[in-house]
Amino acid sequence: MKCENCTKKECSKKQKNDDAQSTSVDVLSPNDDFEEKNEFFTLANAKILLSDCLACDSCMTSEEGARVFQQNQKEFFRILNLNKKCDTSKHKVLAVSICPQSLPYFAAKFSLSVNDAAKRLCGFLKSLGVHYVFDTTIAADFSILESQREFVQRYQRRSQEEHALPMFASACPGWIRYAERVLTNLVTPHICTAKSPQQIMGSLVKGYFARQQNLSPEKIFHVVVAPCYDKKLEALREDFYTALYNSQEVDCVLTSGEIVQIMEQKNVSMKDVTEVAVDSLFGEIKEGDVVRHDGKRSDGYLEHIFKHAAKELFGVDVEEITYKALKNKDFQEVTLEKDGETVLRFAAAYGFRNIQNMVLKLKKGKFLYHFVEVLACPGGCLNGKGQTQTEDGKPDKALLSQMEDVYAAIPVRLPEANVYVQKMYQDWLEGMDSRKVQETLHTKYSAVNQTASNLDIKW
Ligand code: SF4
Repeated sequence: MKCENCTKKECSKKQKNDDAQSTSVDVLSPNDDFEEKNEFFTLANAKILLSDCLACDSCMTSEEGARVFQQNQKEFFRILNLNKKCDTSKHKVLAVSICPQSLPYFAAKFSLSVNDAAKRLCGFLKSLGVHYVFDTTIAADFSILESQREFVQRYQRRSQEEHALPMFASACPGWIRYAERVLTNLVTPHICTAKSPQQIMGSLVKGYFARQQNLSPEKIFHVVVAPCYDKKLEALREDFYTALYNSQEVDCVLTSGEIVQIMEQKNVSMKDVTEVAVDSLFGEIKEGDVVRHDGKRSDGYLEHIFKHAAKELFGVDVEEITYKALKNKDFQEVTLEKDGETVLRFAAAYGFRNIQNMVLKLKKGKFLYHFVEVLACPGGCLNGKGQTQTEDGKPDKALLSQMEDVYAAIPVRLPEANVYVQKMYQDWLEGMDSRKVQETLHTKYSAVNQTASNLDIKW
């Protein structure tokens, strides 16, 4: 059966509700600590099915597969249990960062305001033994600002450098995996080098926050709550591992749905949880109300980069972005006209069907776009497979519609308006053009050799 998100002609992905055929993998045990019977033991037996993963499972090596499956509730409980033991040398500071696209899921599912959902989720996690709960919006601020600057630089050198344009967004690991393993050199030089919000949050927690707290990075266990399983694969990338400390920027990704499973298994309702203000990376200061970026169904890369480029390159202030739907609502275009000429042409391409159409144009040399915000999930991140599926594996459209309403109602804050971001550029990153910015906020994407069958795609 050909699945929505598969990139191969013959897809080996199985339907989530077809459990009999799905391959399930027991979580590997890094040590025996969690074999002990304790209060978390019964919660830890959930299995991840290969079919839960958005990326094509045939593209995963067995080692990657094993490490992805380690990132589940069981690993989270292993750390919680470790922290209860007498041997304090093994204790970890447990930090959880929550993606902004996960909060509308909790708000819609439990009929809460998004601010209440954030505080109750924080209260629940802390009741389990989590020390710090962060919001990853600040990491998205950095990611957008770096993407904006990179786009302007690429635009300015477009006539000297063959691969400067188009630029493709880099925040979606489902898209990145497809680009690196299937599309390879056709696309990889065009991918923006700014790290995704998840991985920038990893740098902030294991770098900035660790330094503030006088902690070595490996003493922090960093969990991210995200809308999809692909984020687990992203966390494993070699670029995001520091050998010196034997430490990943993100140690474990749990989907929003996996968090709800923990609540259900502990018989906890969000409505009964005490509200606790979300922490910030800056000492005792707590986060205020939840804010989001422009862009109703994504982190807003297209809108922010478009407005920034219009101003920087053409001196035009764009107040409101007008989308033109192309083939469907998941393939839209935005243009800037100046003196009767189209000077900027951006697109949003969500879902693999639209991505494939976009790539077909690129292969035929008929590509008109300067920038494309590419997301693997139709509808964007709110529709991530880790939060919008019903128990039988079907998309929960009613819930998604509520989540979209919740998300759209969150106030927008420009990344430039975050004073902490500006301060961190100066105090921690040594200026906006520093080597440290490149090392901390950027990465590289390149073609990954695959077997012949994976490349056997006819466009
Ligand atoms: S578009 Fe889907 S796969 Fe990509 S980051 Fe968002 S939720 Fe994950």
